[in-house]
Amino acid sequence: MTIERAAIIGLGLLGGSIGLAVQARGLGITTTGWDRDPQVRAKAAERGLVGRVCDTAAEAVASADLVILCVPVGAMGDAARELAPGLSPHAIISDVGSSKEAVADALSAALPGACIIPAHPVAGTEQSGPEAGFATLFAGRWCIITPPDGVDPAALAALSDFWTALGSKVELMDAAHHDLVLAVTSHIPHLIAYTIVGTASDLEDVTQSEVIKYSAGGFRDFTRIAASDPVMWRDVFLTNRGAVLEMLGRFSEDLTALQRAIRSGDGETLFDLFTRTRAIRRQVIEQGQDDERPDFGRGHGE
Ligand code: NAP
Repeated sequence: MTIERAAIIGLGLLGGSIGLAVQARGLGITTTGWDRDPQVRAKAAERGLVGRVCDTAAEAVASADLVILCVPVGAMGDAARELAPGLSPHAIISDVGSSKEAVADALSAALPGACIIPAHPVAGTEQSGPEAGFATLFAGRWCIITPPDGVDPAALAALSDFWTALGSKVELMDAAHHDLVLAVTSHIPHLIAYTIVGTASDLEDVTQSEVIKYSAGGFRDFTRIAASDPVMWRDVFLTNRGAVLEMLGRFSEDLTALQRAIRSGDGETLFDLFTRTRAIRRQVIEQGQDDERPDFGRGHGE
């Protein structure tokens, strides 16, 4: 099974980047796309995010052998119902949603009997919309595919090959395990960033202008994450509720332990933890997951 025609539903950061990557890498795959917002469709056509921007979802997916839903996770069911009338019976339906169990349920409810193989490229930025996409977003990044039981091996191989061709490293994972792993590596960090930025903006004895003026002390790194799309992240927390609450419970316990260490002047506990976390940062860099330049490579006025 080879993919010759791919349809992209939702032409924001992820959808646009897939369309651009397919074209930039010269994969010989024809792309069509649709987004519910006419202004997004117009911008997508102007930027050439896909070969052809269609007026309806059904038109976009007609004769596609791969359909990728790139909409917020809470909109997956609606988007799938919208495209259903045009779907070829042989098409592979996939997505890029950040939570996987809920999306798998929504897609199978909307498209009973279809070949559904959810996936999550662990690649993104805090930007969204049709202007945000770029062709190299997936290069060297992981794409986690969460195949359901009894998946067609040829369809799974075709989807894996597709992501590999976009430059991704592919990993297969059970959907529930994916949701737990991503809760700790992505969802909780976003929640912490949203919280700290919210707390700082609500303070009474430290002004907002002081928070912004002295943000280089660490705060500004949280503001990047806390600038992420509100719709996308609302949906992530609502659809990955169980795993997020489980990890949040663990995090709260660890935070309370640190609070106790600070209150009781237990420097050893603080030092030991900070030494362990420094080693994690080294591993992130060694495994090519981030730039090793200090302060994320910021120029500091050079
Ligand atoms: P985005 O830039 O906001 O793009 C999503 C697009 O989908 C928007 O144009 C939106 O239009 C459209 N849309 C919403 N509901 C729709 C529907 N029912 N039918 C058709 N189009 C619809 O978001 P994104 O960052 O690309 O995220 C898309 C998906 O990728 C999400 O599921 C997210 O969890 C996942 N993801 C994101 C990242 C990241 O870092 N951003 C990384 C990995 C995975 P409106 O503006 O009109 O709502």
